[in-house]
Amino acid sequence: MDFRSYIRVIPDFPQPGIRFKDITTLLKDGAAYKAAIDELAQFARELQADVIAGPEARGFVVGAPLAYTLGLGFVPIRKSGKLPYKSIKADYSLEYGKDALAVHVDAIQPGQRVLIADDLLATGGTITTTINLVEQLGGKVVGAAFFIELTYLDGRQKLGDIPVKSLVQY
Ligand code: AMP
Repeated sequence: MDFRSYIRVIPDFPQPGIRFKDITTLLKDGAAYKAAIDELAQFARELQADVIAGPEARGFVVGAPLAYTLGLGFVPIRKSGKLPYKSIKADYSLEYGKDALAVHVDAIQPGQRVLIADDLLATGGTITTTINLVEQLGGKVVGAAFFIELTYLDGRQKLGDIPVKSLVQY
């Protein structure tokens, strides 16, 4: 499927110079959304993932249906201050702005094979922070799956040997 044709590019959002990749136009199309999740699910199967983790908020829109499709659990990586139970936290910077992510201390068991999912790989800051949190809990990150990759930002290079799958590249 030509996933690119379902993604809307908005110039200068949320600030001048950023070309925002709007996935709502893909999500609202049932066939395109399902095909996108199914393709990432195949990647996760090959890597023998046993749990999916995704960063707030668009990582939930990719990671949760992926987990459901595979019959696996989903671990939400949330913005700092949102999780109710004992958590660990890590700071990070975005293509535009700064933030902190957190995860419950018992969200991942040591040795679990974790696949990380998000809508878009830009600088890789969000994903490396997510990997950092998963690894602090003893999880093994076996892959990272995205709808979109901004190859000119070279986020993939920050992930080292971790296999990366993206459906559309810019
Ligand atoms: P990064 O941490 O730089 O890899 O940025 C990835 C995160 O920021 C993803 O969770 C995206 O949702 C969001 N993001 C960064 N750049 C863009 C963009 N140009 N269009 C849409 N979302 C973006």
